[in-house]
Amino acid sequence: MPIHTTQALVLRTIEYSETSLIVWLYTQELGRIHVIAKGARRTRSTFEGALEPLVEGELVFYRKKKADTLDIAKEFDPTNYHRGLRRDLPRLYRGVYLAELINELGEENAPNPKAWSALTVGLNNLVHAPDNQLDVVLFRAELGLLESAGLQPSLSQCAACGAPPAPTYPVSIPGGGVLCEEHARSDPAARQTSPGAVKTLAAIVRGDAVQSGPGVNNQIRDLLDPFLRHHLGKALRTTRYLRRRARPVARPRVVTGGPGEAPDLALSSDPLPRVHDAARRR
Ligand SMILES: [Zn+2]
Repeated sequence: MPIHTTQALVLRTIEYSETSLIVWLYTQELGRIHVIAKGARRTRSTFEGALEPLVEGELVFYRKKKADTLDIAKEFDPTNYHRGLRRDLPRLYRGVYLAELINELGEENAPNPKAWSALTVGLNNLVHAPDNQLDVVLFRAELGLLESAGLQPSLSQCAACGAPPAPTYPVSIPGGGVLCEEHARSDPAARQTSPGAVKTLAAIVRGDAVQSGPGVNNQIRDLLDPFLRHHLGKALRTTRYLRRRARPVARPRVVTGGPGEAPDLALSSDPLPRVHDAARRR
């Protein structure tokens, strides 16, 4: 069996047997992969509990020859725990969101340096950014991941013809971005958006220093969420945890998952429970 070594970020793990884990990773050399980590659930394992979501490290693994069998992890040497993401829930949710997004967008067994860079730089920036910049950092990483998959929305020129956008910045989700006046008239999917939100997102993509408040950030989510749903065919689970902090709650009421920001942990395959477990332990 050929042996490989690559930098890798753990996206998700599921318990496979009493002692083993199946681990989803995004890697620098091979894109998205799955491995089985035998013995990883034992107290004294060579993996030493490092196979947790959002931990980056050097993975050594055996490549199986048959397509329908799993690769086998040999070693995982953590190089960055991203501990700062576990400092508060808004950071943690945004980190988990990026992991969920690359798990959907990332191609299996196909290296994508742009995706690797957007993911790892994005996570590091989420660790270090001030609270009021978390959404800007997330949007930049998110758009970087979309670009790496060839899905970046057109924000500064008409997605159909390249002309300047209409003054109201109408957007067509299936059309791939903003539209000029002529194409907005002929596209039944064209919808009104906030020109300020589209311009802010374009500035974020350009790398400009941007200060945007919760109102504009929510409008940007109103744009990105349906765009992602269109391309992925489903909503990302973590999306619903990205807005709460920005919206003041008028009065206490019972929401899914109970009080505060505790998420719904019903699905054992969801990455959030394990991240929370890890956050408690560290
Ligand atoms: Zn046009």
